[in-house]
Amino acid sequence: MPTSPSLRHPRRAADLFLVFALSLAGCEAHAEPASHPQRDAARLSQPKALHAARLFDATAGTILANVTVRIAGDRIASVVAGAAAPPDAMELGDVTLVPGLVDAHTHLMANDTGDYIDMLTQKSEAYRTLEAVANARAVLYAGFTSVRDCGNEGLMYADVALRDAIEKGLVEGPRLRVATRAIAAPGGYLPFRVSTDLAVRPSGAQIVNGIDEARRAAREQLANGADLLKLYADFPASPTEPIRPTLTVDEMKAAVDVAHASGHKVAAHAMSLPGIRNALAAGVDSIEHGNDADLETLRLMAARGVFLVPTQAVIALEIESEAPGSPRRAVLQAQVEGGKRLIRDAVASGVKIATGFDSAESAHHGQDALEAVTLVAHGMSTTAALQAATVRGAELLGWTDRIGSLEKGKLADIVAVPGDPTRDVHALERVSFVMKGGVVVRNDLPPRTK
Ligand SMILES: [Zn+2]
Repeated sequence: MPTSPSLRHPRRAADLFLVFALSLAGCEAHAEPASHPQRDAARLSQPKALHAARLFDATAGTILANVTVRIAGDRIASVVAGAAAPPDAMELGDVTLVPGLVDAHTHLMANDTGDYIDMLTQKSEAYRTLEAVANARAVLYAGFTSVRDCGNEGLMYADVALRDAIEKGLVEGPRLRVATRAIAAPGGYLPFRVSTDLAVRPSGAQIVNGIDEARRAAREQLANGADLLKLYADFPASPTEPIRPTLTVDEMKAAVDVAHASGHKVAAHAMSLPGIRNALAAGVDSIEHGNDADLETLRLMAARGVFLVPTQAVIALEIESEAPGSPRRAVLQAQVEGGKRLIRDAVASGVKIATGFDSAESAHHGQDALEAVTLVAHGMSTTAALQAATVRGAELLGWTDRIGSLEKGKLADIVAVPGDPTRDVHALERVSFVMKGGVVVRNDLPPRTK
């Protein structure tokens, strides 16, 4: 069965359908209303089943051969291995099906090009939101069908709007869990230096001072649509100063109590050991970055079920842009070595690890697979890195009932990569097919005839 051209070019087909639908609208009283391109694209690209040479069982960490995934609506109806393709299956050939990937820490609303204040002051909120729409599509096309957005960098609740617009099918993007404004102490987040003369001072987070303000911010953010809270447990006072704890344990605990009371999770940015310890004492659910976490602290996290999201790839990307021999490159190289130590100890401790790319630049959005690649370069097994980007991410997002593995009852979020990703993690960087909720959103595979 040849792959229908409409599957490969959903928008073109949708445009034709739109013209057709509009021409009908004038003739028949009960004709469907003028159609929406996104909705029609969905209707035209929903195969009943997919067949492929291999499938990654993310729960077991194994590869199944000769697999058919049957789809009913937006869910997986069955997964059958070791059998030929049924007649109604879309044949994807010599690829491995993996669960829709999960990025547990990114910033879709951020297109920082080197000067954070410029990002906050030289672009309108509307323009930055449109940038985020483009970023969301890039991330989806890279195979990341679910994303936890860990702070919108001064955009109030625009990430809630993006999440809801994606959910409604108005724009393309991954399923989102959003942290909205994030919460920080005065002087505890970007931008570093702002003139005291400005009537309205730009800030990348909601600034709180004291327990009451922390509680108020937590309640406001959740009431306005946040899925999780993001706290800044430590930060340097300037780029050249050391990282120091910022929010107190009591301030963070006030926010954590508000979030947990309504079933929401809390992520803490924490890089220094004192900051990490404070965040753990406050009861957070995940440590973001965690650079200086030692083995003892990682074991404590493992015992409590607290996640580590180590965000190592951004350092590797940054080092590439530095000239050999530059002082900055030496600093970054030390961070890479520190990252290898962190991953080695984290794996030894048994702490749960989820991949987070921490992208905040337009050039980076869509390269999210680089985090899994970097974790492997730092010593994690390929299978564990794949699980960090699938089942573990799903658990951190609180969505184990719907994503993270390809099995009956879960959402049909399915990605195809070449070769065997358990042998070569770089396969995640070569996504050729993306399905979200049973709808093909990208298909670069050559048309096949059975
Ligand atoms: Zn971040």
